[in-house]
Amino acid sequence: MTAEPIDGKAFAATLREKIAAAVAEVKAQHNLTPGLAVILVGDDPASQVYVRNKGKACAEVGMQSFETILPTSITQDELLAHVARYNADANVHGILVQLPLPKHIDAQAIINAIDPAKDVDGFHVINAGKLAVGQDGLVPCTPLGCLLLLKDKLGDLAGKHAVILGRSNIVGKPMAQLLLRESCTVTICHSRTEFLVQETRRGDILVAAIGKPEFVKGHWVKPGATVIDVGINRIEHEGKTKLVGDVDFKGASEHAKFITPVPGGVGPMTIACLLRNTLQAACASRGVAFPLG
Ligand code: NDP
Repeated sequence: MTAEPIDGKAFAATLREKIAAAVAEVKAQHNLTPGLAVILVGDDPASQVYVRNKGKACAEVGMQSFETILPTSITQDELLAHVARYNADANVHGILVQLPLPKHIDAQAIINAIDPAKDVDGFHVINAGKLAVGQDGLVPCTPLGCLLLLKDKLGDLAGKHAVILGRSNIVGKPMAQLLLRESCTVTICHSRTEFLVQETRRGDILVAAIGKPEFVKGHWVKPGATVIDVGINRIEHEGKTKLVGDVDFKGASEHAKFITPVPGGVGPMTIACLLRNTLQAACASRGVAFPLG
């Protein structure tokens, strides 16, 4: 079997077009321009690129973007004051604090200081709790992107066995909650899981989010499964750096039916879902029906 690659780049581009059309509509009908604020602490070049890309993505769909870049030396209280300023700004509907934060800052305290209605990353404890109990809230962008790809390829997910590698608050846990909400039977694996290969081979859906290059081998994949590779790992290859996922793409392609490549799979969905969440938050702030709901 040779798996069909899932083109996340094309799917994300179409989603961004739909978001742009919806933004134009809410602007025209409700005089509402969704706005996203990004706070970056420090001068990490990769984070600077992410923040710049987010600003560009906002502009492309007609949203307003706000950016605050702060030195690594900033105190927790000073950072909290910036969050509070954006919480109070009616033009800002989404707030994102770029992670990781310097060690002297308690990241969870900063995230929990964001107004949950503006928490477009979906990391606030209120949004995590809503997802856990099945209430509508803002859902973390990467697992949301994975779910949209899965539903597009497979339709109804009910009854499928989903195996998730990784239990982080950013990817693994919310992914599990989302798939449970779709009535999948969910297994979550982590670094202490025994007989990992036996577990992964049970998955009609296999989501890998562990941060280890090409860790999941071809024979770990159930024949005909759908593989979603969340990993983004930079490795040295023939003297150059190259991006690879957590799955051995070539090996897994011999067993899976569908598989996301890295790059070009899940990655582009994350930023598209951030824009989607910002539109959702903006609509909710005025009681406007979410056009992409
Ligand atoms: P974390 O480091 O927070 O979590 C990694 C998880 O993998 C942990 O739960 C850990 O288990 C588990 N794990 C580690 N080693 C093993 C192992 N040998 N066997 C089984 N499980 C293992 O990572 P994130 O969730 O933040 O990210 C995961 C990957 O996804 C990374 O490559 C990251 O770059 C990528 N990513 C991609 C995004 C995108 O936009 N495409 C967005 C976010 C992340 P334990 O809990 O026991 O330690």
